[in-house]
Amino acid sequence: MVFYGRAQQSSIAARLDAQLLYAKTHIADRLEEALKRILFENCKFLFKTPTKTGITTGESVLTEGRTILAVGKREELAKQYPDLNQAEVIDCSQKLVMPGLVDGHNHLCNTHMNCCRAFPFDYGKISEHMLTTIHDPYGWLTEESIYDITMASIINDVKQGATTIENSTILPDTAFRAMSDAKIRGILAPQMATGFRLDADNLNMRQSLDKTKACLENYHDPNGKMQVVVHIHDLWDTAEKMTLEAMNLAERYNTKLVCHFWEFANSKDQSEALWAEDGGALAHYMKLGILNKRSVLFHGSMLDDREIEILAGTGASIIHNPDINGTNCGNCAYIPKMLAEGINVGLGCDYGSLDVKTSMKLMLLVHAIMPRELRKIEYWQPFEAATMGSARAYGLEKQIGSLEAGKRADIITFDLRKASQLLPMCTQLIGLQTELLYFLFTRNCAGLETCDTMIDGNFVRRNGAFTEIDEEKFIQKAADWCGQSLTDIAARRAQNKHYSRIMHPDFVKDEDIPDSALE
Ligand SMILES: [Zn+2]
Repeated sequence: MVFYGRAQQSSIAARLDAQLLYAKTHIADRLEEALKRILFENCKFLFKTPTKTGITTGESVLTEGRTILAVGKREELAKQYPDLNQAEVIDCSQKLVMPGLVDGHNHLCNTHMNCCRAFPFDYGKISEHMLTTIHDPYGWLTEESIYDITMASIINDVKQGATTIENSTILPDTAFRAMSDAKIRGILAPQMATGFRLDADNLNMRQSLDKTKACLENYHDPNGKMQVVVHIHDLWDTAEKMTLEAMNLAERYNTKLVCHFWEFANSKDQSEALWAEDGGALAHYMKLGILNKRSVLFHGSMLDDREIEILAGTGASIIHNPDINGTNCGNCAYIPKMLAEGINVGLGCDYGSLDVKTSMKLMLLVHAIMPRELRKIEYWQPFEAATMGSARAYGLEKQIGSLEAGKRADIITFDLRKASQLLPMCTQLIGLQTELLYFLFTRNCAGLETCDTMIDGNFVRRNGAFTEIDEEKFIQKAADWCGQSLTDIAARRAQNKHYSRIMHPDFVKDEDIPDSALE
């Protein structure tokens, strides 16, 4: 038994009292936060669900903590919730309110890569182009620079309407920290490949798989704000034994396998030649068992009619990135055909300095001018791809992607008093030709910043500004890193050196990859 003197006893009692008070206040605060109600009242335009008639006027959205409690006319909500007048009210009579956008594919750490277009490269020679424009800038990154660049990319995407962002990245622990600090909903995809190794992320095959496994153990929380997926960079720069282990990992943790897929004409041609005896590359991948409901494929821009029909039978999702299709690869995924075949299509932007709302505009535009049998898409389809399409790709369709009771409170608003580009949108169109509102919004939305951004019930932006993030600081830091990376990479190139190294050639079969390349 331990005996305490009187003074010691009173000091222990005081400490216990203080701890109890802290716990009570802390729990009370958390409880209050969890039950806090916010009413987005009387929305001039409410984009509720991505369907032909999914837009209403004069309705309100009531949230409680991280959840959408109800959507409807204020009078109806007041009957259902007699204490409605205690909710914090956001007047939306001059606002457009919609679900937060889901960026189905991005690399939040690649903003500085664009600078490397300054060096000569050829998109027709895939390995050379990768080394120049992707591996070197990735290999140059440090924990500090990747954090700042990731934050600046989040700022860019969120400002334009994203609330969920898929982030294919190296140094996933730091990327996770930035995504958590920014309080976004995230899909974290630690990049794995065997064909090259980066100075910044110098992992062999086993270490890469272990790193992804550790991320799944530490960060994967599908009911929270972070989902971890298993990410093979591409099929032509990764040993198939790694791709198969990646699929096993995705199955074991019940998550998705994500991969760049037939982004370049050159990568399709070389893959076809490699797997000719299997009846072509697609047939080979089908046989391998890596195309199924668990697969999320970025781009798919080289898939032809027949291949799209085959892919439709697998249940795999495609994430469309119209800007990068055009500006990097000089092509365009055949999205009208994919939609007609019933493939789930999500939308992404692929670069930290692009944004998913602008991708909506580009999706509307490019398929109207592509000289193909199936042209045009319906007016609401870019919005559907940027909400439910991307959400469905990651199995998040029950949580996000529309404004419905029971879903997570991921909500964005646009202030119509400041949106001169949205002027033609009038409420008289509702019921007359509601879908025209999707057209007017999508055609004119580029560059429009959100007024409010709520993610999981928490305001990340309010009245046109970030609530916690120091926007200017991170833009300045990322700008400095962009300049510095170019100086450093140019200096290394002048010595014929790089920030990455090739471990084995691309487009080879496993039997032609020496063990030493994987160790
Ligand atoms: Zn990408």
